[in-house]
Amino acid sequence: MKVIVIIPAAGLGTRMAPMPSAMDAKTKKPHPSKQFNQLAGTPILIHTLRAFAGVAAVTEIWIALRENEIEGFRERLGKESKEVLKKKVDLVTGGEHRQESVANALNAINAAPDDIVLVHDAVRPLVTPEIIHDVIEAAKKYGAAIAAMPAIDTVKQVERTSEGAIVKATIPRAGVVLAQTPQGFHYSVIKKAFDEAAADGFTGTDEASLAERSGHPVAVVMGSPRNIKITNPGDMELAEFYLSRR
Ligand code: C5P
Repeated sequence: MKVIVIIPAAGLGTRMAPMPSAMDAKTKKPHPSKQFNQLAGTPILIHTLRAFAGVAAVTEIWIALRENEIEGFRERLGKESKEVLKKKVDLVTGGEHRQESVANALNAINAAPDDIVLVHDAVRPLVTPEIIHDVIEAAKKYGAAIAAMPAIDTVKQVERTSEGAIVKATIPRAGVVLAQTPQGFHYSVIKKAFDEAAADGFTGTDEASLAERSGHPVAVVMGSPRNIKITNPGDMELAEFYLSRR
């Protein structure tokens, strides 16, 4: 049984750099996408790749990148340790949305129905071997599983207005978790979910939402408050701090 990891890394990260296509004043090159920002001297995506390459159960890793970033990343990959390069790492072109990037990788892989497919955000470099292991085991058992955190704050449902938002309801916190990645599936489950979403023109913000609408129950395993998704500039400082405490 294979464990295939898909890392969507084709986003522009507009919340990190407001104008990602603008030129950097110092380097005179376009701003790199956020997954290439340096975290403790190493691109975020490389940290993420190393986290999965270090797990023995993982058989192959597919990374979806923007077309113009593939060659540069292939070169950077060549500088990695033998430990990382020992794994089969393949690069595919990403799409307009995260879902399209994952779909491109799904279409490229060769898998049996019971093989496990893990999807993990490129910008969550602090994922631990324990979380990866727990999601793999739960995906094997239930066919679909995600890492998630209980909600600490009280959760409000709102209606957006031109001036902000108005609270519509309070959602009981006990019935809510906040989804992280990795999200893991039997290949047959994620393939069916993606095919159905494509046929219906549905776009979700994570893979589990596609499995849910396909009628497949999704199990939840404990994530970590440190498994942050680097989104805003302040997140880099937090990630560097967590990294220094490992
Ligand atoms: O932008 P967002 O926070 O949804 O990004 C989550 C992950 O999806 C990031 O790792 C990003 O690089 C990836 N992504 C992608 N292709 C896109 C948009 C986002 O691979 N078109």
